[in-house]
Order: sequence, then structure tokens, then C-alpha cells
Amino acid sequence: MKHPETVLEINLTDLTSNYTYLKNKIRPEVKMMAVVKAFGYGSDAVAVAKHLEALQIDYFAVAYAPEGVQLRRAGITTPILVLHPQPGNFELLLDYDLEPNLYSQRVLELFITKVKTAAKQAYPIHIKYNSGLNRIGFSDAEIPVVLEHLCNAQEVKVVSLLSHLAASEEHEERAFTLEQIARFTKFSEQIIAKIGYTPLMHCTNTSGILNYPEAHFSMVRCGIGLYGFGNDAVYDKNLFPIASLRSVISQIHELTPGDSVGYNRTFVADKPMRSATIPLGHADGIGRQYGQGKGFVMINGNRAYILGNVCMDMIMVDVTDIDCEEGTRVVLFGKDMPADVLAGTTGSISYELITGVSARVIRQIVD
Ligand SMILES: *Cc1c(COP(=O)(O)O)cnc(C)c1O
Repeated sequence: MKHPETVLEINLTDLTSNYTYLKNKIRPEVKMMAVVKAFGYGSDAVAVAKHLEALQIDYFAVAYAPEGVQLRRAGITTPILVLHPQPGNFELLLDYDLEPNLYSQRVLELFITKVKTAAKQAYPIHIKYNSGLNRIGFSDAEIPVVLEHLCNAQEVKVVSLLSHLAASEEHEERAFTLEQIARFTKFSEQIIAKIGYTPLMHCTNTSGILNYPEAHFSMVRCGIGLYGFGNDAVYDKNLFPIASLRSVISQIHELTPGDSVGYNRTFVADKPMRSATIPLGHADGIGRQYGQGKGFVMINGNRAYILGNVCMDMIMVDVTDIDCEEGTRVVLFGKDMPADVLAGTTGSISYELITGVSARVIRQIVD
């Protein structure tokens, strides 16, 4: 398909701008880890990683091992942290030089056993501390067990100590966040005192980088910021959404009062109207929750709201008062209409909308 009508355009120049902006927020000696999980937040993980590697990013993070394998197969040589390594994927980690984030006694022991069997030495690992998110991570009570393994196993070497903030974008949760940072600092000090070397330390995601400069330690983990969202209007004006979802109008219908639009006839015109059909639907990542007048698309600078139900492959929008014709370009989100605005119409967030653009939508890379 040379000219697909529905496209997710990925702008690498904007990625460079976001990277530069975020890089300027950290001290020169602090390393930056780019989080490229979930297909680079729904964009194109390989294109994004290659671009950031050329900009000399220090580290990558993915959620699951197969995501790291995809990057290695594409030629990425920068270290890759796997945030949620699963014992069933340990073989893949070793085969593709991927570094596990170990978070419990069970996975730590299983991984050490695996490395021993493979006869590897000083395999890079990362140790995750649960400072309050209560998702994955070691607790304070487990510190002795962690230390026992780390001090006795020559097979592994701790590259970093990390934790994850629960509410780095919530200003009302500042006290809790500072407590998390203090707990992580104390945990790290105890580990470092015993293992006799100093691994990297990191606990900030994008909002953590922007709101807690005192918590950058020796590395930061940046996801959504690189893709153009700062979770706060103050930062959003300096960041550019790199992904833009657009399409075209397939057909326009003139509706007379009483005409219904779409499945189950949930929308019925009560006046003469015009509807436009757009070739993308819930199978492309625009969920049914955007239907019934909640979500909209941008046509010539105007919001055209979705009429009735979102179909699998199409949506119909209200263009009664909008100057447009069949073939007119339509934007769902991008630089001029950030994804968090459309997501917000259904109580969702940028993260969910951008990572949900399905594989069916052609990605077009613009440099
Ligand atoms: C996804 C993730 C990040 C990135 O968070 P952003 O808010 O997108 O910057 C960082 N750390 C961990 C552990 C994550 O799971």
C-alpha cells in the first residue's frame, strides 16, 4: 500500500526535540534510559530506538523479553533492561543479552540458577525495590536475602538499583513521593555498603524527572516524555507528540430527520444533518467508549463528534457545520490535537490512547 488512507505518522525530528528538552532537565553526568516498551508507546519501537541510539542514549527499557528480542534483531546494541522478566523468558534474556529487573526472591533465585547452568559470569542484573507502588519489587524485610545472594553469586553483577514512583505527576502526593525517594535511598545505601561497588540508581519516570530533580540519582527512565507528553500543561508546551493519527473522509451522507446512523441505531437525526464516514474503528484503537458523541476527529480545524456506535473498521462523525468533502483529511490526534485531549473525553489518558493504535494502522516514519 503506497498511500494508505489511515496512517500513524511518527516524526523523528520531534523525538529529537523531546530528547533534547529532557536531557537538559538532568545533570550532564546523569544517564538516560529510554523506555520503548509496548512498541515504543504504540509508535514504532525499532525506529524510535535506532533514532535514540544514534543520539547516544545510554540505556533502553522494555516491559517484556520479546520486546527486547525485537530490538536486538533489528541491530540495537545499547544495553536493554527488561522491566518484567518472567522465568519462562530467561532463556531469551541470555540469548539476546537482555538484562532482567529482578524483584522477588523467587525470580532472583531462578535467574541465578539459570545463569549458573549457562556457565556465565557477572551477568548484568538490576534489583527492584518496592518503595510504595506495591506492584513489583523487594521489600525491606527481604534485604538480607537479597544481600546473601548478591554477595555470594559470582554469576551475576548488579548494574543498577531501581524503584518506581506511584504518583510523580500528582502534586498533592508530594509528601508520599518524597518518602518513596527516601526509602529507596536507604535501601540502596544498605545494598551498596555490603556488595562493595556502586551500581547505577534510578527511580524517576517522565513526571519524576520533571517534578523531582533531587531524585535523578545516576540515571532517569523516560517514556511518555520522549513521545511528547509531560502529564502537565507546564511541560506539554515544550514537548511535541511524535505520533499523529490521521485518515480521510470516505463518504458523506445527507441525513433527514429520523435517519439513524450506525449499528443499533443509537443516533437518530432530529434535523437535516451531514455525516462523514472515516475508515478507522475500534479494531484500530479507537474504542467504543469514544462513540455516542464523546470522541471527535479534527476536520479543517473543527471538532467533528462521533455519531452513534464506533464500528470495528469505521466511525461516522457529524460534519453538518464543517466545510469538507469526500477525501478531506481528518486528524484524530497529533501535534495540533494532543492525544490526551481526545483520551480525556472518555476519562482515559494519553498513554492508553497512543499505545492502543493497532498493528493494522500503517506507520509512516518522517525524519
Ligand atoms: C513504563 C515505565 C516507565 C516510563 O514511565 P513514563 O511515565 O512513560 O515516563 C518508567 N519506569 C517503569 C518501571 C515503567 O514501567
